[in-house]
Amino acid sequence: MSVERVLLASPRGFCAGVEMAIKALAWMVRVFDPPVYCFHEIVHNRVVVRRFEALGVRFVDDVATVPPGAPLMLSAHGSSPEVLAEARRHGRFVVDAVCPLVTKVHHEARRRAADGYTILYVGHAGHDEAVGTVAVAPGAMRLVEDEASLDAALDGIDGTTPVAMLAQTTLALSDWEGLRDRAAARRADLWTAPRDDLCFATTNRQAALRLVAPRADAVVVIGSANSSNTLALARVAADAGAPVVVRVDGPDDLDLAALTGARVVGVTAGASAPEELVTGVIERLAPTEGVEEVCLTHEAEYFPPPPALRELLRCLAGVLTPWWVPVGRDPVADRDLDAAQVLATLAP
Ligand code: SF4
Repeated sequence: MSVERVLLASPRGFCAGVEMAIKALAWMVRVFDPPVYCFHEIVHNRVVVRRFEALGVRFVDDVATVPPGAPLMLSAHGSSPEVLAEARRHGRFVVDAVCPLVTKVHHEARRRAADGYTILYVGHAGHDEAVGTVAVAPGAMRLVEDEASLDAALDGIDGTTPVAMLAQTTLALSDWEGLRDRAAARRADLWTAPRDDLCFATTNRQAALRLVAPRADAVVVIGSANSSNTLALARVAADAGAPVVVRVDGPDDLDLAALTGARVVGVTAGASAPEELVTGVIERLAPTEGVEEVCLTHEAEYFPPPPALRELLRCLAGVLTPWWVPVGRDPVADRDLDAAQVLATLAP
């Protein structure tokens, strides 16, 4: 039996932070001769990373290996103070593409640590964002991944020390709320941010999927295996009642046999997955009755290029125009530029 209908969650795919980071790296590729260096994957998506690699971008896990004077971008996930300091040594031109919403959590961590709090940070061990955030105040931070590590962390904090709780921006809302409520039950004075650290893009994509999943026989989540928000979407789909949930990098690894018997298939994409992958997956599903978009909200958030890049582009205005900016338009005014289109123009 073939797929009859696709329920397409909206919003899905690129968020404002990823849009900013991809356009920023595209600018770096345009402005500088290769190689341009990038600390960590610019975003956790194989298609995006491979496309930039084909253009001469070298992704490194140690900024000390970047040659003196080389152009270097720091990824959207945020970097530790040590990485930032090392990156700026030896005359490297550094563009920090950290998402402003990750920076906000860094600020919260710094401030609470300065006020004497012990900070429970809910995140995934080893994830770039968690590593960078914990390093902001390592003496005060305790990484928490589950109930057991939360309980152990709380057991080690005496009753007179104030406790704050922060989170990786891309968690599943239910995971965060469960741990926050558990901590609050033990510490009535627990401090959390007035608005959860989970970013708008994370919560919007999860909420849109919660509209789709109960109506679908199966859900396809598009995004890479190391993408935290993609994995969170897969959990949300299962929690919301989807009988079958499959995560795929893109159309090429979609196993249609896993969807056997599914007449209605929900589709969404993590915040670092380009729309071209969504299009490819829908083409493979080939729904006989078409696609119904299930829209929670329209996102209008926009993050301008990182400050160092803005300054560079101001200097280059009129001298250099990238191939993706229409003739006559201010290249620095990139609000209306779509990172997916920019990425498509970069295809080798
Ligand atoms: S998922 Fe959220 S925190 Fe991460 S880059 Fe996107 S907007 Fe920023």
